[in-house]
Amino acid sequence: MSNVYDELKLFEYVASVSKQDIDIVTSKKPYHFDKVKKVVLSPLFFRKDGCECCGKCCNNYMINMTNEWKKRVELSKEEDFTKWNLDYKIIDEVDKLLIHDIITVNNKKVDFYSIPPLDNSPIGASGFKMGRCRFALERDNHFYCKLHPIKPFAGAIPHIVFRNRNQTTHIRKQQYGRNWHLGCPIKFGEFDYDKYKENDLSMLIELEEIAKDMGIETYINDIMLYLNSIDNRLKNNIVPDKNIVFKLEGGLFE
Ligand code: SF4
Ligand code: SF4
Repeated sequence: MSNVYDELKLFEYVASVSKQDIDIVTSKKPYHFDKVKKVVLSPLFFRKDGCECCGKCCNNYMINMTNEWKKRVELSKEEDFTKWNLDYKIIDEVDKLLIHDIITVNNKKVDFYSIPPLDNSPIGASGFKMGRCRFALERDNHFYCKLHPIKPFAGAIPHIVFRNRNQTTHIRKQQYGRNWHLGCPIKFGEFDYDKYKENDLSMLIELEEIAKDMGIETYINDIMLYLNSIDNRLKNNIVPDKNIVFKLEGGLFE
């Protein structure tokens, strides 16, 4: 049985970059999202992210995925895990826990997977009941992800925010609006090209793969084309200093 809050989360990520209206029907309920008419890539996207492995944000997730993730699980190798001092046998647990469902996205049948949170979910300071992720590993007073090499999208994207209002999406790096509750200690640093390639670009590519699983056309290709066009500047740590706007009818405005 899936959890409405978290299945919505994955859909919201895709919908926030979608060029088409989306109607989704799951075993829980139907969802509708209007297409996005404008995506604004903020200079605040080009900041260095970080994580002190405090584990607070992993108290708030349940895991939902499409075939994009299933393929990564199937292709994963033991050495991907051992290099992080993680146990590859966790894949067996994933296999046992994985709940497969079929949802429809604009009438297309889509494989959808979820893993429920631990039953002993804590109650947050606000009284909001959260699902503690079962893959958080406590070690040396820090929390690590047992699935680190194959981290599902929602857990791997701590601070890239896709803020969608009135068919416009702002993409930037910032603390979540709910950070008053989570209390993430990260302060963003200056742009770091290697981290940007390793984390930010791979997250955009992953989101595009998830959208493809759902048969949804997105703005990600337009954004990637733009980012490729300024790659030499980024290598020299020259980042955009104003919003980059991508419009549905085409065109890019700096
Ligand atoms: S709350 Fe912030 S520092 Fe803590 S695990 Fe999440 S991203 Fe990392
Ligand atoms: S899968 Fe990993 S990153 Fe995602 S919520 Fe669980 S412990 Fe955190």
